[in-house]
Amino acid sequence: MKTIERDVIIVGAGPGGSSCSAYMKRQGFDPLLLDKDVFPREKPCGDCQSGVTTKLLAELGWLEGLREIGFENYGITMTSPDYTKLVVEAPNRGTRYDTPRRIYDHYCVKRAVAEGVEFRENVWVYDVIWEDGKVCGVKAKVDGEYVQIRSRMVIGADGSHSIIAKKIKMFPDNDNDVAVVGRCYYADVDMEPFNEIHFDKDVLPGYVWLFPEKDKLCNVGLGFNRDLYKEGKTLEEYLDSWIETSPFGEKLRGKRRIGEFRGWRIPSGSQAMANVVPGCILIGDAGSMVMPLTGEGIGPAMVTGKLASEVTREAFDENDFSLNVLSRYPERRDKIYGPKYQSIKAMENAFASAEAVDGFVHKIADNPEVKAGFQKQWYYESYEGKE
Ligand SMILES: Cc1cc2nc3c(=O)[nH]c(=O)nc-3n(C[C@H](O)[C@H](O)[C@H](O)COP(=O)(O)OP(=O)(O)OC[C@H]3O[C@@H](n4cnc5c(N)ncnc54)[C@H](O)[C@@H]3O)c2cc1C
Repeated sequence: MKTIERDVIIVGAGPGGSSCSAYMKRQGFDPLLLDKDVFPREKPCGDCQSGVTTKLLAELGWLEGLREIGFENYGITMTSPDYTKLVVEAPNRGTRYDTPRRIYDHYCVKRAVAEGVEFRENVWVYDVIWEDGKVCGVKAKVDGEYVQIRSRMVIGADGSHSIIAKKIKMFPDNDNDVAVVGRCYYADVDMEPFNEIHFDKDVLPGYVWLFPEKDKLCNVGLGFNRDLYKEGKTLEEYLDSWIETSPFGEKLRGKRRIGEFRGWRIPSGSQAMANVVPGCILIGDAGSMVMPLTGEGIGPAMVTGKLASEVTREAFDENDFSLNVLSRYPERRDKIYGPKYQSIKAMENAFASAEAVDGFVHKIADNPEVKAGFQKQWYYESYEGKE
């Protein structure tokens, strides 16, 4: 079998992998970035680049380009099952965008390549190479040929169905921590520049979203945890019935749906494991890094990609790829996300009843102080740049 050698391999060129590759470059590495698909490619998503995402894009020098390809939103509107509407405006303008992932992910990969990252697409990784209790690379199919790509570090950035996570036995799959979520697009929808989140009694504690994009395109989707999935009705049927019955579904009625309704698996951070074994780190969805309830995962994928680059630097400097060094990754990650995952998971659990969500929304809507606190929480760690 043909063998290729590199210091660092990153498997998966979603937002986690592409930003990680750029941070690896900044740490002095020449990483090899691999993806099974050919870009541009689809990725089912709500397509929202939050303030956490834009913060890292600004740091990488990639934010200006997003402003050209994305549609800016000014925050969210949230409605309760009793149809009370709450507007939660982002603290700053120019910090949140909605961009189809087909365009956003391709943009990030192009930026990484422009910075000198070596990117190989159409490379399907199917296993890791284990030697003496350490991951020493991956096995892949490249241009129809089976090859070994050996490396001192492997970063698993291969998303929610991660083969790397499965092979290193860090693939948690708890029904209460995994959401089934789907989306489609509608054309010619008139919307304010706000991402709409609609808590509806039929999908709690999940929600239906309508996110406005360029040229009056609207990303529409819904989802909820797998343990709440009620047999006999598909996600698409839930969505169709919401559009017909909710007063907020009115703007979609009679509009043209574009493309197919596509579902996906969202692994929430409440089930995240250590995500390190000797020679290997998992980032983003591969490491179950998505926020419970909100489903925000692009920002966490990029944040963990950056963390992985820092810990990888330390592993090379100390010539130690064991858990002595790599366990710094979950320690630092948990400092950022541990309490947040817990508090949002608790909120998600509380959102199981319509009365609770009604009460929550009313409380915020009726009290400016509570609203300010919620606003701070919702836009956590957000980019503070102004336009
Ligand atoms: C319907 C839906 C709506 C969502 N809405 C939002 C939102 O609005 N905002 C937000 O922040 N998050 C949202 N999320 C979550 C977000 O999509 C993910 O958290 C994010 O894509 C994670 O990025 P990633 O780089 O870790 O993985 P991915 O984006 O999944 O990228 C993984 C990459 O790995 C490649 N790959 C996979 N397997 C292999 C293999 N064996 N060999 C080689 N390459 C491989 C894939 O082709 C892919 O390019 C949503 C998710 C869903 C499902």
